[in-house]
Amino acid sequence: MKRLTLILLALSVCPLLAGAPVAPSAESSPFFEEWKTPFGVPPFGRIKNEHFLPAIKKGIEEQRREVAAIASHREAPTFANVIEPLDAAGELLEKVESVFGGLRSAETNDRLQEIAREVAPLLSALRDDIFLSEPLFGRVKQVFEQRDRLKLGAEQRRLLQETYKAFVRGGANLGPQEKQQLRKINAELSLLSLRFGDNLLKETNAYRLVIDTRTDLAGLPETAIAAAAEAAKAAGLAGKWLFTLQAPSIWPFLSYADNRELRRQILAAYTQRGDNRNQYDNKQILSRIAALRAERAKILGYPTHAHFVLEERMAKKPEGVYGLLKQLWEPALAVAGKEAQSLQAMIKTQGYDFKLAPWDWRCYAEKVKQARYELDENQLRQYFPLENVRQGAFYVANRLYGLKFVERTDIPKYHPEVRAFEVQDSDGSHLGVFLVDYHPRPGKRGGAWSGRYRGQRIKDGKDIRPIVVNVCNFTRPTADQPALLGLEEVETLFHEFGHGLHSLLSRIRYSSLARVPQDFVELPSQIMENWALEPEVLKVYAKHYRTGAPIPDELVRKIKNAQKFNQGFATVEYLAASFLDMDWHTVSQGQALDAIAFEKASLQKMRMMPEIVVRYRSPYFQHIFSGGYAAGYYSYIWSEVLDSDAFQAFKQKGLFDQATATSFRRNILERGGTVDALEMYKRFRGREPSVEPLLEKRGLKGQTLP
Ligand SMILES: [Zn+2]
Repeated sequence: MKRLTLILLALSVCPLLAGAPVAPSAESSPFFEEWKTPFGVPPFGRIKNEHFLPAIKKGIEEQRREVAAIASHREAPTFANVIEPLDAAGELLEKVESVFGGLRSAETNDRLQEIAREVAPLLSALRDDIFLSEPLFGRVKQVFEQRDRLKLGAEQRRLLQETYKAFVRGGANLGPQEKQQLRKINAELSLLSLRFGDNLLKETNAYRLVIDTRTDLAGLPETAIAAAAEAAKAAGLAGKWLFTLQAPSIWPFLSYADNRELRRQILAAYTQRGDNRNQYDNKQILSRIAALRAERAKILGYPTHAHFVLEERMAKKPEGVYGLLKQLWEPALAVAGKEAQSLQAMIKTQGYDFKLAPWDWRCYAEKVKQARYELDENQLRQYFPLENVRQGAFYVANRLYGLKFVERTDIPKYHPEVRAFEVQDSDGSHLGVFLVDYHPRPGKRGGAWSGRYRGQRIKDGKDIRPIVVNVCNFTRPTADQPALLGLEEVETLFHEFGHGLHSLLSRIRYSSLARVPQDFVELPSQIMENWALEPEVLKVYAKHYRTGAPIPDELVRKIKNAQKFNQGFATVEYLAASFLDMDWHTVSQGQALDAIAFEKASLQKMRMMPEIVVRYRSPYFQHIFSGGYAAGYYSYIWSEVLDSDAFQAFKQKGLFDQATATSFRRNILERGGTVDALEMYKRFRGREPSVEPLLEKRGLKGQTLP
């Protein structure tokens, strides 16, 4: 599972509002015209920095006008004159924001970051003006109160209910003074989370480990050395080797470099990001964010921010989340404890007597893995050229759902490294556009995510098909090798592709209902990871980059054998971050806490192992302070309960069983958020999910304390 992933849920600031015709404007901005590009993909080549601000401002103005017209409508409120037009309002703003949000994550620059800071308070105010408008809420409420007498379809009933709830949760029932407080908090929060992300990007880009002696490269595979040499050359340091905090650089370094001191240094740089007492320090920002969220929750009538958030999730309450985390924590600690012992033994075997430290873990885990399973990541990489892996994901989608991916060179792209595909359904009809952007750049934030440049919806009876993008930070090709992926990167590619399919297959009417609960959204993504490593699938796509020979059975068997290896580490590092997230969002007081002391106390309380660093320390925990996963980082493991259980259905009936695939598509992938998440799951599986397959998969079954 991919804890690094984020999906861009926040592309449109007000998810409730989208759609409605825009009058053409005389101004010569690409945003004020209809896009005549293939499938209406944004004309990236013509969109310049200076186009964003005026277009966002105009979008805000238009949405205000549309919403004001709904609020002051002369006729009695109905579903057709209140709820539907609210869903459709704000089309221009969404059009601009999709491009703006997408580029700000994948190809940003200082100017875009500046614009983001300028518009954040405007967007926050727009949202509050809508949700806190008394006349508008009055009309929404009147329709809601008649709901049992209205002749509405299931999706319409859901839209009505969700719209009403969004107003209430947005503060519509508060008194004037509390509304004022809420506005202030929202405005401040919108800026703080931006600053958090900006600081992190700056801190990540600021660090360089420059090596000028070959002996310091000992242990590193040739691919990592070649990539570091090219990075150095690009930075004007020809003849040296440059390592960075980007994923394809730091993780191989920590897994292979013999030089223990350099391993310590690069990990320290990574874990100190946002905590360097400089202008990019995130500690005060994050404490303030947590405090403001707690204060807002109080105003809205919830004990904590987690209560506020979880009400909308499958987990429902903090107790539900802590319950699952605690159920897994002790067994995971026990497994990780055993792993630590075997790493310590390996250190001894190699003739050292130091005590295992966090900067040793990956390195010695790799050595144990090689000794125990004869599985060498580097040898493996040769069978995973990026191109093949992507084709492998396409193959799975074809076998499951009959989809076809046709590469198009006439589709506009925002960077030469982006590739574009038209996605066709089994009957050849157009389903959507799929863009992929796979390598790190300084203007791209860390991690991997799936985003949308246009969401699916029905407009004026016409099915508007989506434009979806997968953005990752994978190993680059070098001068004499294609990009060769590690196993984790392979799984990430399938994971993000799964999110992509979820968006591409959507068949809903109202765009406001696209959103699904966060602890459900990782089901469509994580389930795809299961196919990636199935022997039957590996045989199809995993081919040696030079000889084209399919991966040998022997290697496939070794991959299978090693699947539970190091799962204690992975589970502990992840669960610790989930606890930390929950702890930050179950504070009930609205005053800022000392970030480091709080984090320390939180980790101590859970008895965190000193040999493992929490997956994200607070000052660079972007998911929760700048990415929409607040009180939501647990979602990955929650969804993993679902995906492990759901995949069993395929294992039982056949990996590509058509009836099972069709049911998964119709009941889950096409439904968006139009049906309650648990209900969708039960329609597919015929029962509630079981936690057993997850325990089995992670090797946690039957574990007791050491
Ligand atoms: Zn994901």
